[in-house]
Amino acid sequence: MPGKVTLVGAGPGDSGLLTVKGLRALEQAEVVVYDRLVSPAVLELIPSAARRIDVGKEASHHPVPQDRINQILLEEAQAGHNVVRLKGGDPFVFGRGGEELETLARGGVEFAEVPGVTSAIAAAAYGGIPVTHRDYASSLHIVTGHAREGAELDIDFEALVRTRGTLVFLMGVTALPAIVKGLLEAGMNPDTPAAMVERGTLPGQRRCGASLKALPERAAEMGIRSPALIIVGGVCALAEELCWFERLPLHGKRILVTRPRERAGTLSEKLRALGAEVTEFPCIRTEPVSPCPAMEDTLGRLLEYEWLGFTSAAGVDAFWTCLRALGKDARALGGVKLAAIGPATGKALEAHGLTADLIPEVYDAAHMGAALAKAAKGKILLLRAEEGSPALTDALAEAGIVFDDVPVYRTIYDNPRSAELRKALESGEFDFVTFTSASTVKGLVSAVGAEADFSRIVGLCIGEQTAGEARKHGIPVKIAEKATIDALVELAAK
Ligand code: SAH
Repeated sequence: MPGKVTLVGAGPGDSGLLTVKGLRALEQAEVVVYDRLVSPAVLELIPSAARRIDVGKEASHHPVPQDRINQILLEEAQAGHNVVRLKGGDPFVFGRGGEELETLARGGVEFAEVPGVTSAIAAAAYGGIPVTHRDYASSLHIVTGHAREGAELDIDFEALVRTRGTLVFLMGVTALPAIVKGLLEAGMNPDTPAAMVERGTLPGQRRCGASLKALPERAAEMGIRSPALIIVGGVCALAEELCWFERLPLHGKRILVTRPRERAGTLSEKLRALGAEVTEFPCIRTEPVSPCPAMEDTLGRLLEYEWLGFTSAAGVDAFWTCLRALGKDARALGGVKLAAIGPATGKALEAHGLTADLIPEVYDAAHMGAALAKAAKGKILLLRAEEGSPALTDALAEAGIVFDDVPVYRTIYDNPRSAELRKALESGEFDFVTFTSASTVKGLVSAVGAEADFSRIVGLCIGEQTAGEARKHGIPVKIAEKATIDALVELAAK
């Protein structure tokens, strides 16, 4: 089978701005060739089975020259692979996408192009600048500020000034003084509103606004660096009022999420939606106890129990897998009542068409124990972690309730030591670290070493028990009002 190359615009950085068609192409890719401008968030969407080739270009030196990139695309396709060529923004807006396709066309390779959201429009938009507006501009001009080595800028400034439209310069950070000089000499009003948007649409986005004449000085003060847009025109005056992205409550905050990989998604998404820069570090994982004769035995005589208690989604998963393996389904539960420690565990039950009859008011082991002790008349079966909290079983024992406590999954701390993460934590690179259980604290500590200095992080803890574990290691803590992901997110945004 002959291969194929799909040139895909990755958008300006925010992975939500990758097109649906681009994402589908990426999901089918066997080989992905990508640039420096493609953001980590988009790179995360590359399937793990695909081979990645980084041809990222640095501003001054070019590790992989364009000719070689063209060659790589040709060779990979000719070897029969389904290749995606990922490029920042739109591939045809100063992306040399045309040159790459010419090579493929001449080499007789099948190709397609998926346009992307260009930074020229999107980074401006995230900076609160609509590139056109009936009151300010009736045309938009996208210009490169990059000059060929040793050459002067080749821009017809007089023609640009005459358009009275919005001017957007890409690759213009180095040439900023020359661009401003060119516009002023061509007669543009020195008080024309202007702006720069650095790392637009990304969590670390910064904007700098000034009059045209003051822009170079202002940009230098802020230390604006590539990648950044230069935007010139009346529309820039709207930014102060419209800069919605910078106003998100977690804009500019860096947060480390330590949940197990399969459960990190919702927390990370919610934090990102509020503007945070999230790094996921799944420092624990759970593994079902398998084989689990104790669970098989109790599931064989489920109807002996009045209540079945779950303290996590992992417990529900282990239960369901075992039930199915025994050839049974939800009917095996008959009238057995279900208790869940909190809404997330309740939701895990809902996924199997089961509704929790009891969720304690406060989502922790002690309150679940107290609530069950009050509600139960018969026997209780607890399906939970190997090292489940004694607060639950103590409450039941005290009330004289009969129960079986069956460990159905265990927490594994098998992270390789990360010196890099330790350095990041010790140097205060993260504003917050989220802890959704005491075991995530233990997992992080095991990954960076107990001797590390944790005093510069703030641990956002889901509850008292988790906070207690964090304090043991000298981690300053804040505790969520309720033991839910939403409350944890609220705590971050407070
Ligand atoms: N094809 C890309 C542009 C490539 S040229 C696109 O359509 O967006 C590279 C230039 O794009 C950078 O020098 C910078 O001016 C601009 N750029 C790319 N990503 C950016 C971002 N996230 N924020 C601001 N400018 C960006």
